[in-house]
Amino acid sequence: MKLLEDRIRKDGLIKEGNILKVDAFLNHQMDVELFDEMGKEFRRLFADRPINKILTIEASGIGIACVVAQSFHVPVVFAKKAKSLNIDGEVFTSKVESFTHKRVYDIIVSKKYLSPDDHVLVIDDFLANGCAVMGLIELINASGATLEGVGIAIEKGFQSGGAMIREKGIHLESLAIVESMDWTTGSIEFRSQE
Ligand code: 5GP
Repeated sequence: MKLLEDRIRKDGLIKEGNILKVDAFLNHQMDVELFDEMGKEFRRLFADRPINKILTIEASGIGIACVVAQSFHVPVVFAKKAKSLNIDGEVFTSKVESFTHKRVYDIIVSKKYLSPDDHVLVIDDFLANGCAVMGLIELINASGATLEGVGIAIEKGFQSGGAMIREKGIHLESLAIVESMDWTTGSIEFRSQE
């Protein structure tokens, strides 16, 4: 999606350790009109899927997921990062290793909000090694809901998550795929997409 690639070139900051900072429009200050365009694009890309729910993970996925959900006219559920886990049977749980914080945490969704009737689109801001998305997919599988696809704003194509998810036959759409980036020069290349 050219609009997003142009915005990353303009306002993105490349940090040491393969981190792309997009705080100016996505992760801290949020450009809701850009999110709206992203939502329309996801709607187009997943038009053939009977999506009735969007699932994301706190915190940075929530803003995008809410705006995307307006394009689909469906509710958003966000997986919560559980500080202390008391498994009382009321929640689905899985584990996620944080790429940015390098630690493992539990995520939970109440059983009230995911069920076998649901057809779910997973939305997140970044795809790196795929841990966050796989954690969300585990919750969907545990609930008996159907995974209809995964929509990502920015995929770092040089990390393993995208290939792993596509190899599983999951319908993955990333609006911008960073092929390479160099924090020493600030250069960034995107994978060309139709
Ligand atoms: P993964 O689980 O795919 O390894 O990493 C995805 C998660 O880590 C996303 O939810 C995102 O919050 C965070 N993340 C991974 N890489 C980056 C990055 O380069 N920049 C930012 N801002 N967040 C990232």
